[in-house]
Amino acid sequence: MAAFLTRVKGLFQHLMERPSTVDLKKYTEVLTSIEWREERVAKLTDAELTEAAGELREKALGGLDAHGMVELCALGREAARRGLDQRPYDMQLVGAMELLHGRVVEMGTGEGKTLAGALAAAGYALQGRAVHVMSVNDYLARRDAEWMAPVYELLGVSVGWVDQESTPGERRIAYGKDVTYGAVSEIGFDVLRDRLCTDVEDLVHREPDVALIDEADSVLVDEARVPLVMAGSTDDSQGDPEVAAIVRTLRPGRDYERDEDNRNAWLTGRGAKIVEKALGGLDLYSGDHSDRLAAVNAALHAHALLQRDVDYIVRDGKVHLINTSRGRIALLQRWPDGLQAAVEAKERLDPTESGEVLDSISVQGLVGRYQRVCGMTGTATAVSEQLREFYDLKVSVIPPNKPCVRVDEPDRIYDTVEAKETALVAEIVEQHETGRPILVGTLDVAESERISEKLTAAGVTTVVLNAKNDAEEAAIVADAGAHAAVTVSTQMAGRGTDIKLGGADGDENDHDKVADLGGLFVIASGHYSSSRLDNQLRGRSGRQGDPGRSVVFASLGDDLIAQYAPDATAGADPAEDGRLEDQTSKRFIEHAQRVAEGVHLDIHRNTWRYTRLIEHQRGLVLAYRDDVLRTDLAAEQLKEQCPDRWEKLAKDVPEDVLTVAARQILLFHLDQRWSRHLAFLSDVRETIHLRALARETPIDEFHRAAIGEFKGILKEIRELAVETFEEAEITADGVDLTAAGLRRPTSTWTYLVHDNPFDSDAEQALQRVRAAIRNVKAGKG
Ligand code: ADP
Ligand code: MG
Repeated sequence: MAAFLTRVKGLFQHLMERPSTVDLKKYTEVLTSIEWREERVAKLTDAELTEAAGELREKALGGLDAHGMVELCALGREAARRGLDQRPYDMQLVGAMELLHGRVVEMGTGEGKTLAGALAAAGYALQGRAVHVMSVNDYLARRDAEWMAPVYELLGVSVGWVDQESTPGERRIAYGKDVTYGAVSEIGFDVLRDRLCTDVEDLVHREPDVALIDEADSVLVDEARVPLVMAGSTDDSQGDPEVAAIVRTLRPGRDYERDEDNRNAWLTGRGAKIVEKALGGLDLYSGDHSDRLAAVNAALHAHALLQRDVDYIVRDGKVHLINTSRGRIALLQRWPDGLQAAVEAKERLDPTESGEVLDSISVQGLVGRYQRVCGMTGTATAVSEQLREFYDLKVSVIPPNKPCVRVDEPDRIYDTVEAKETALVAEIVEQHETGRPILVGTLDVAESERISEKLTAAGVTTVVLNAKNDAEEAAIVADAGAHAAVTVSTQMAGRGTDIKLGGADGDENDHDKVADLGGLFVIASGHYSSSRLDNQLRGRSGRQGDPGRSVVFASLGDDLIAQYAPDATAGADPAEDGRLEDQTSKRFIEHAQRVAEGVHLDIHRNTWRYTRLIEHQRGLVLAYRDDVLRTDLAAEQLKEQCPDRWEKLAKDVPEDVLTVAARQILLFHLDQRWSRHLAFLSDVRETIHLRALARETPIDEFHRAAIGEFKGILKEIRELAVETFEEAEITADGVDLTAAGLRRPTSTWTYLVHDNPFDSDAEQALQRVRAAIRNVKAGKG
């Protein structure tokens, strides 16, 4: 009964908090006041406009009241009109105001979120707050900062941006501005890098305050679990070219086998013999060669399961992972070391460095540091519950400036992938003849290429976007609306770029010509793993009241169906061309997508249960670190704990030098201890599933281990510091940590691990490898 009541309550709450379209009535008066004020503001000179914003800044410290909101919108609107020659639409102002209330606003593609976001950012800045506008990539961060600069300038708000190339000095300046644009990963990496500073002067970040997140669903949901990692150099094992060469000769079915869903591969008896012989006649499974066995398994995984151009591409002599959810190249992302090295060996590339993880933070953990989080996206409603559950964020739906008239056709379903693609090509050929621009959305790079080849064979010239660089893609996608253009692109290639009918440089004539043809036709070659991703693709058509059309071609042979509705069958015989129009097929396809969405949510939830504790512990350690860095805490503590030593040293060493030495010693141990703790936690996580077999709940077991280990950590750090302080040589030049055998990492680098150990197939496969080794060692294998 109680459970039932909770469920009803949950349902009720769910209904209550369902994201709703903002109450425009609430805003009617405000919008009228803004227009009234706007008339006067229009008469101000530029300098007077800036001055008025300065006056608002003085009044707004601590918060914008209703009057302040009106003033901000009026000034912001005028600044945009002058700076960009665009007068913000009412709905953009409403969006900005909702952002200022800490909401995630849903505004369709092409509604002008960049400008709405900038007005909100300026609004926060005028309240004296530091704003980070987070983008999904470097290109967009810089583009938006430069694009919006004239608006900020007129409002007297300073703005900067960071990208991968920024120097520490440039970063410090950029983060010192009122508003800073940056890719989520770049901002996160700076947080990690700041973690290694031993001198306050070297920090680039200020205290995190306001995060305004563009493409908020991508960042907060799709990428939330992605750990940002900072590693330091150690000489570690590399991929083994010899093993790779051996594995390359193996034949599937004969020498190795794969399971049905292509997630695991193993050697057959025959395969094992071949490998053992080639490696000089050793017994792989004896337990004496677990390193070799691990290398062989990693190589086999790389060879048999990871497919070039589907899972990764090779460019500039490096392996780049493709983010499977969007077919985009995953910048700086890599697999766990063993596998990364194995793929590099498979492709005969020079090995990249591997090292020790010094610190890591998940995107969710990064966002969690901010006092205030808000964001914007075209597709928030579908994830409103997750935004509430994980971030306590509410969604506001802003109606479009002009109603959307795009026609979303029902799916066209076929029995096989073959039949589907034949029909898809035929449809494109037919539509293309009219001159109507077509955007084909595919699931991965290989599919893009296959479809493009078929189109070429059918006489249609295509432009293919294949996870190249963001700026180039943006330029290409911007032209996808040109007359007779056929663009084939993976999910989010060129995202954030506006597709104008008639082409990027087209005039009104070009626009109208294409509009008369029905506007941009978006054709998906299959459903993505969530309806949200489908909608993002559809949203590329029909912007600002333009005509447009979208349709998904699906088949019962699609991967999504195979994976999430493997029992799917057609409810009726297909037509001659393979077309299925029965309800059963349709339901199976919808079902598969819902299952996929559920699986992803479970994974997110599960991962978060693990990472939340780690992020919490990280927070505690960092708060202590910050104290040590910014105050003389280390000196005070060491002076108290080693009074004799301090006194002795103080005879020859000036107090300030001693203070710095104390700080460096303590920070060294703190950083090292923390990275050891992280290594411990990842070990526990790796073995947790084995322990789960022993009937313990993994998460409880993990918590128990993590909390137990963490308990004494601060005390331990202080003890280690005391030890070093007693023994290390400290002179008027300070402490020589290296001489004391305490080396800070000489080089560090940062990367994203595309997925968390718990759900990435790659990691799971590696875990299986490790488990296999353990079993071998334990004599079970
Ligand atoms: P979104 O991020 O919501 O998809 P963008 O911010 O990229 O949209 O803007 C889409 C296009 O609309 C851009 O070309 C931009 O210049 C234009 N735009 C935005 N606001 C206005 C406005 N108030 N008046 C005219 N054009 C606008
Ligand atoms: Mg945008």
